[in-house]
Amino acid sequence: MTPRQAVVIGAGIAGASVAWCLAERGWQVVVLEAGPGPGQGGSGNPAAILYPKLVNAELTPTHLQSLSFLLALDKLRDPRLAPHFEQTGVLWLDQRKQKAEVGPEHPWWNQHVWRVDAAEASALAGVELPMSALWLPSAGMLYPQGLLRALLTHPGISLRNETELLDARPLHEGDQPYWQLHTSQGELSTPVLILAQAGAARALEMTRDLPLKPVRGQVSALAASLPLRTTLCYGGYLTPAVQGQHCLGATFQPGREDLETRSEDQQANRSALADLLPALASALPGCDTWSARASLRWQTPDYLPLIGELPWPPEHQARLAATPPGRRVPPPEAPQPVLYASLGHGSKGFTQAWIAAEIIAARLEGQEPPVPPELIERLRPDRFLIRKWLRGALWKRSVSV
Ligand SMILES: Cc1cc2nc3c(=O)[nH]c(=O)nc-3n(C[C@H](O)[C@H](O)[C@H](O)COP(=O)(O)OP(=O)(O)OC[C@H]3O[C@@H](n4cnc5c(N)ncnc54)[C@H](O)[C@@H]3O)c2cc1C
Repeated sequence: MTPRQAVVIGAGIAGASVAWCLAERGWQVVVLEAGPGPGQGGSGNPAAILYPKLVNAELTPTHLQSLSFLLALDKLRDPRLAPHFEQTGVLWLDQRKQKAEVGPEHPWWNQHVWRVDAAEASALAGVELPMSALWLPSAGMLYPQGLLRALLTHPGISLRNETELLDARPLHEGDQPYWQLHTSQGELSTPVLILAQAGAARALEMTRDLPLKPVRGQVSALAASLPLRTTLCYGGYLTPAVQGQHCLGATFQPGREDLETRSEDQQANRSALADLLPALASALPGCDTWSARASLRWQTPDYLPLIGELPWPPEHQARLAATPPGRRVPPPEAPQPVLYASLGHGSKGFTQAWIAAEIIAARLEGQEPPVPPELIERLRPDRFLIRKWLRGALWKRSVSV
């Protein structure tokens, strides 16, 4: 039986939530964080919005974001976590360019979503809004730093800050496989390793080929000047006051990894709001008084995260390359230590990380996963490698002369 011990790499929302879900099941979890504390990457913004992008009724039962949203709401009802979530509701403002919308046929209609006209939207928001909106009353905003702290102080979790994973090697003791971890603070071994260090997974030799692409984003924080009661989403977002400040976000800059904050990006956040709601934008204080934080989203080519078991990539790739496409891939010759990933959460980590955590914890405990099997298959972290193999791009024919 696998000992119920794991090491998780990264103390962002992906790492903290999987550590929590395992600790809740009685596991002893060590979380390694390269920085001085949790939330050094995308998970360190002053606020994060919890809301789903909705799809039509037919797709909803297997739609990752919809399922994730419901699971996240459930988790955040826990009294240990609830203080870090404010159910402000989200008004998704109608815009001219908007695509066909969900309507009364949606399974959540009149429960988690309905349409409001401009007068109703204004009454909900506490500010004048000149357009109708979708109203998502269960959505809201999270306080990431408080939430991460609450998750990581679970008695089953030991957080080691300033401990960067530098290398991981699969080894055996007798017939027991384990990971030998080389970290900035020394060596460590574990039977179960969970990668949740976002784009930094590419720095490890074994996962350097994972298709994770950066999208830089800058969020602005400014002295609260509006009596806003709900979160407004319109492509960008504007929050009610969080500790005396509105959060206004966020730029979306694919391919960029620089983290210096820029005044042009403050202007861009302001313009996105001003284009739609000029009166609100003009009631905000001047951009030169705002503060900012830049960080990275990491996304995959199909915009779905990498969640689940990851066979040790170098060996997995070699076995696929030695097997004709479409055939059953033979199992590894020796048992391998357990490797999981919760990576590539893009713009939706605070919603999706929970379902990733539950998928991984359920799998490690031999329990039913919280999502249908076809979705597990769509999320598997080796799917891009498998597709390459199925296209014949890995298969090396032996040439006889
Ligand atoms: C501007 C902006 C606004 C956003 N707004 C929202 C929002 O409103 N709602 C929402 O749901 N999502 C939002 N997102 C997306 C969300 O922030 C991310 O999806 C989420 O933070 C990803 O979490 P993570 O744990 O995977 O990665 P990260 O938060 O980046 O955490 C990774 C952690 O791993 C650590 N690490 C890295 N390498 C190592 C190593 N070798 N060893 C040990 N530790 C290591 C890092 O220091 C870091 O703390 C936003 C993103 C940005 C950039």
